[in-house]
Amino acid sequence: MDTNEIKRVVIVGAGQAGGEVAQRLRQGGFEGEITLIGEEPAPPYQRPPLSKKYLAGEFGVERLLLRPASVYSDEKIALLTGTRVVWVDRQQARAARRRARAAV
Ligand SMILES: Cc1cc2nc3c(=O)[nH]c(=O)nc-3n(C[C@H](O)[C@H](O)[C@H](O)COP(=O)(O)OP(=O)(O)OC[C@H]3O[C@@H](n4cnc5c(N)ncnc54)[C@H](O)[C@@H]3O)c2cc1C
Repeated sequence: MDTNEIKRVVIVGAGQAGGEVAQRLRQGGFEGEITLIGEEPAPPYQRPPLSKKYLAGEFGVERLLLRPASVYSDEKIALLTGTRVVWVDRQQARAARRRARAAV
């Protein structure tokens, strides 16, 4: 598959890995639509200090974030927090891309 033909990427899971994928796609020059969906209420955050510095009161919640929340909109990454993905229809996604290509 030619990755230049991919117009939209949906990432399920807004943890460290998901956040990193979204950022790297942009930094690597991907110009299509990126949607990052996570069921937790917060943008991607670091877990190690959660059980250490955060619970000990040494870290505020903002310092847990891997990147400031504004980075996602700055980089045109649609971040949907508090949203659980319950079903993925891979076949339809493939069909939708085919239709888009056929229309060009
Ligand atoms: C309290 C704690 C302390 C830790 N300390 C350390 C440490 O000191 N050193 C170390 O090396 N590692 C540590 N870890 C482990 C490390 O943080 C994990 O390896 C890392 O978080 C993995 O990142 P990930 O993005 O792959 O997965 P996760 O962090 O699990 O992120 C996955 C995300 O996807 C979301 N998600 C899953 N399914 C769906 C769905 N269907 N729809 C929407 N969202 C979904 C989840 O809610 C979650 O936010 C710690 C973990 C915890 C919990």
